[in-house]
Amino acid sequence: MNAPEPAADCLFCKIVAGDIPAEIVHATDTVVAFRDVNPQAPTHVLVVPRSHYETAADVAHWEPSAAADLVIAAAAVAVKEGLGEGYRLVFNTGPAGGQVVPHAHLHVLGGRALGWPPG
Ligand code: AMP
Repeated sequence: MNAPEPAADCLFCKIVAGDIPAEIVHATDTVVAFRDVNPQAPTHVLVVPRSHYETAADVAHWEPSAAADLVIAAAAVAVKEGLGEGYRLVFNTGPAGGQVVPHAHLHVLGGRALGWPPG
């Protein structure tokens, strides 16, 4: 499958395109990582596919290598951010899962003790 077109009015497509500013911390041919504007931990970075997919499952289905790239990029972010003690990866999915932005994104959280279960 060819990569889907950027979705109109998608916030994260606009960040990927450079049309909306973000603090980019890591980027590859397939993914972009930038700081969350409302951080929930000392490190809170979002890793997104450059292509527009709504959910993580859609990325894995249509572009499985990009799904792997999200996790690999998250690990690279963790190294850059000094998260050697560990970190948490989260894909919020759908409204009940807390997903607000309908462009798949992997939260990378770290830099403090992270409680379990999450809220
Ligand atoms: P979710 O609730 O899983 O959809 O996560 C969306 C995340 O995007 C939230 O943690 C927001 O704080 C974050 N966010 C919203 N707008 C921006 C933005 N312009 N730049 C960076 N992060 C953003």
